[in-house]
Amino acid sequence: MSRDTRAVISTDALRHNLEVARQHADGGRVMAVIKANGYGHGLLRVAGALRQADAFAVTCMEEAIPLREAGYAHPILLLEGVFEPAELKQACRYRLDIAVHSEWQLRLLEDTRLPRPLSVWLKIDSGMHRLGFQPDAVAAIHQRLLDCAWIGPHVRFMTHLACADDRHDERTRLQVGNFDAVTRDLAGEHSIANSAGVLGWPEARRDWLRPGVMLYGVNPFIDGMEAPALRPAMTLKSRLIAINQYKAGDSVGYGATWTCPEDMPVGVVAIGYGDGYPRHAVSGTPVLVNDRETQLVGRVSMDMLSVDLRGLEQEVDIGDEVTLWGQGLPVERVAEKAGTIAYELLCGVTSRVHVQLGRDSLRGENPQPV
Ligand SMILES: *Cc1c(COP(=O)(O)O)cnc(C)c1O
Repeated sequence: MSRDTRAVISTDALRHNLEVARQHADGGRVMAVIKANGYGHGLLRVAGALRQADAFAVTCMEEAIPLREAGYAHPILLLEGVFEPAELKQACRYRLDIAVHSEWQLRLLEDTRLPRPLSVWLKIDSGMHRLGFQPDAVAAIHQRLLDCAWIGPHVRFMTHLACADDRHDERTRLQVGNFDAVTRDLAGEHSIANSAGVLGWPEARRDWLRPGVMLYGVNPFIDGMEAPALRPAMTLKSRLIAINQYKAGDSVGYGATWTCPEDMPVGVVAIGYGDGYPRHAVSGTPVLVNDRETQLVGRVSMDMLSVDLRGLEQEVDIGDEVTLWGQGLPVERVAEKAGTIAYELLCGVTSRVHVQLGRDSLRGENPQPV
């Protein structure tokens, strides 16, 4: 059997999580954020599972065109808008919505005559200070957009929240207040909420919601607050390829960073940072061996990592299954031990990892794209 390092994707979980987003939408429409290869789950695979979404959001043309070419007729928003003039024509041709976040993009739009009206989202910086127009400029920018003949009849408004993942952080309320103050007298639909906004901030639920990470089953909150029953869409798995018995005082792996405190068995798992498992995960990071929780020991290598098999020696064998995250082991727990966030781990799974559809995804409806 070949190296059995795989990401098992559950399209049922994706659908379930979309349903959870809908239940929190207060009647708003759900734009599923499927940028970065569907947060590492596969762009078309995710689009197929989430075709009930009202729209899709991606980062760039390279992510939008494959969706159109696969036959999706949904509105598709380019979250960073266009990067060069030629992309305006492409956006038109492929009927993509674009964000406009800066003066240079607005000028490009004013200077490029388009054959067909384009849908534009005016991005407002309500306090995150990353992308978007400052609040005091918004009314004038909005007017310039309306004056531009090839912009669709409706200009929509969007902003992004910097701290929604912490329910105790008052900055979210300030951002929503800033957004409302500048849009109050302007006609057009609103979009504010990312996943944390959808689940944690009812005041941020508007005409359109933009959930991303929650669709993949990740609790977006950092404040320890439970998220509603989301289901992990990716379970990263591999197998034991060696079981070795070491003596107390023996060190394990590169840099000899971990030392056996007693005579003990150590397992070697066929997965490493070359597959997207984080090298910065520390000894003690949880790992499941045959669904029983144990811990990573020593440094993660490119192709392998080692696990503590104390207490499991009676039940483990070469070829046994190891779960690195997903079903039974939330990716958030691994991310925390690696000094990062679940987003980065999910996006970082490399092309060497086989993708397998979960058993739940294989029955019933054909999960392939349209
Ligand atoms: C990525 C992104 C989202 C989705 O954020 P999550 O935290 O994954 O829900 C929403 N809006 C914008 C503008 C984004 O860039």
